[in-house]
Amino acid sequence: MTPGVTVWRCTACGSLFFPRRLLCATCHSPDFAEAQAVAARIEEITEIRHVLGQTHWAPRRLANVRTADGLAFTVGLLDGSQEGEEIALFQDGTAPFGRRLKESAA
Ligand SMILES: [Zn+2]
Repeated sequence: MTPGVTVWRCTACGSLFFPRRLLCATCHSPDFAEAQAVAARIEEITEIRHVLGQTHWAPRRLANVRTADGLAFTVGLLDGSQEGEEIALFQDGTAPFGRRLKESAA
């Protein structure tokens, strides 16, 4: 698990994307530069209680988050963060996760 989530910024118009796209949805440029998103605010939480075919499934919480730059995506929550909270972002492989910014509140 590493701090921050790798996102892609269009070098032509500055639009941000996660996950990466082949072409910028705004200006259709194929050129992107990597950037790091380190924090975001939770807009909505979904709890996944059951998954078909999975017998040993612990409930997982997914959050729709939005960064200060306006980029929205979905992360797995590592703690009891609630809607409206600002969370720190992490990455495990290509999967994004988040938890409360303050260690003491976790
Ligand atoms: Zn662009």
